[in-house]
Amino acid sequence: MSEKQPSFIGGHPVLDFVNTVAWRTEPARRAERVSDAAGWLRWAVTAEVFPAVPDGELPVDDAELAELVALRDALEAVLDALVDGEAPPAPAWRALRLALLRAREAAALPPVLPLRWEPGTRDLTDLCHALALRAEELLSGPAASRVRRCAGPGCGWFFLDRTRAGTRRWCSSGDCGNRDRARRHYARTHPTAGR
Ligand SMILES: [Zn+2]
Repeated sequence: MSEKQPSFIGGHPVLDFVNTVAWRTEPARRAERVSDAAGWLRWAVTAEVFPAVPDGELPVDDAELAELVALRDALEAVLDALVDGEAPPAPAWRALRLALLRAREAAALPPVLPLRWEPGTRDLTDLCHALALRAEELLSGPAASRVRRCAGPGCGWFFLDRTRAGTRRWCSSGDCGNRDRARRHYARTHPTAGR
């Protein structure tokens, strides 16, 4: 993974959302890739959740930012459970349920078919709603069985495995995959190292 910019390797906005934490499973290296409201709005556009960065001054609202991060924490736990074939932890599930109820309450439902919730696209609360609804779509559909977690030590990034055989292991073959090849090469050429 690159060191500073958010990455969009997930193949789904909800996976890219959780992937805004780098080295997710290695506490000493764990790092935020998006730190403020303006950064999140830019992220939302690149992730194709918002059509454009909203005009005008964005009010600084720490509560909105905290709500977004809390949703990300909940989704992180739910996705780990999904990949591990376990039941989602109760607090994370409660948080996701609440986020979904709020999203439905706030979103528009235009009288057209197929039925589709339309959350707002202006601020971090709208982003929270949009991501909760996208999470529902991901976790209730066939793509859920394609969610994988990178096998790179400490990486923890999620992605949709679109390979026919379902055998993709790395967030990026040029990144964690490369590190793994280097590790295996080192083990082969230094057979006594690490024993
Ligand atoms: Zn990785």
